[in-house]
Amino acid sequence: MVVGILGGGQLARMLALAGLPLGLRFRCLDPAPDAVAGHTAELVVGAYDDPQALRLLVRGVRLVTFEFENVPVAAADWLQEHALVAPAPTALAVGQDRLREKQLFRSLGMSVPEFRTADTREQLHAAVAAVGVPCVVKTRRLGYDGRGQVRLHPQERTDAAIDAAWQRLDGPGNGGLIVEQFVAFDRELSVIGARGRDGSIAVYPLVENEHAGGILRRSRAPAPDVPGKVARAADEFVRAALEHLDYTGVLTIELFLRGETLLANEMAPRVHNSGHWTIEGSVCSQFENHLRAVLGLPLGDTEMAGGQVATMVNLIGELPVRSRLLALRGLHVHAYGKSPREGRKLGHATVVGTDRTAVDAIAAEVALLPAAQPGDWGFAG
Ligand code: AMP
Repeated sequence: MVVGILGGGQLARMLALAGLPLGLRFRCLDPAPDAVAGHTAELVVGAYDDPQALRLLVRGVRLVTFEFENVPVAAADWLQEHALVAPAPTALAVGQDRLREKQLFRSLGMSVPEFRTADTREQLHAAVAAVGVPCVVKTRRLGYDGRGQVRLHPQERTDAAIDAAWQRLDGPGNGGLIVEQFVAFDRELSVIGARGRDGSIAVYPLVENEHAGGILRRSRAPAPDVPGKVARAADEFVRAALEHLDYTGVLTIELFLRGETLLANEMAPRVHNSGHWTIEGSVCSQFENHLRAVLGLPLGDTEMAGGQVATMVNLIGELPVRSRLLALRGLHVHAYGKSPREGRKLGHATVVGTDRTAVDAIAAEVALLPAAQPGDWGFAG
């Protein structure tokens, strides 16, 4: 059976790696001819809204899923007429729009950072005045890895800074803007849940995430020292969202923790970087569970494998010297086959073990390694 995937990046590549042992094969659609899922799946090169490319994707394919949420909903709707599409395009539409996400979170009783929307330059000035500074101005659509957002600091509460944010974020081209209160959070968390076609739900242990420059650097699971009632609230919240959306597949929700209060930041209707540790850290990974869910198969166990703890670090911009990285004991290395570029996610490494301090110490060694020379990893340098 061939599964279609919209998007051909590392998430699609890891979906394919998880699905091959289940006897599945994959075909991805991506605009880039060098999309790295092409190493593990058949690759159709074309725009997401190119009718001919979409036709090639679904030929002989009964099921199509996504590796990222910013595909045109019209394309997902077209696909629905030719194949089973999961998660449903309605969930995709919510995940593409920060306003709709916040409305959903609130309707489920979850707090969100205070916010105002702005569709014009004048409204942006009014929204910043209403929310106050510091604040974060974000595009409603098409933002990722910290792109599509500008922070306004107290000393910048000038008309010029707001005008510059309006200019830089191209509000009209990105579905309008949203101004959020800057949350002085203690920690960032994410909760990842899977829902099967039969409505069964499995939720992974809560994850703690650390970002720099808007990009995820380290994830640890289970999130250390989180009060039980916070972990339970996150678990109940993702279950409520999965049910409300009548969702099929893996859904990730990113959260801020301030004191013992959770605030929802955003959701991703797909497998997520903060769940990469599940490949070695869980009995059944987020990738396999996503496939099980969309295929209508029983969900796998989301427990930590052997009651252990896991730490994942991203490899960003450049890879470390390969022989040095592989010499670190207990490290599971994933290089995505992408050429180096500043800010680009090139791979990740995961450590699992029984002792939190020891696991974190091994993961911390990765950042101390020298960068690889071009060609060290065998692909373009
Ligand atoms: P996002 O694209 O919304 O996930 O934002 C990327 C990262 O920027 C988040 O993971 C946070 O570290 C930071 N961030 C985003 N929104 C806020 C906010 N309202 N307050 C504080 N930090 C934020």
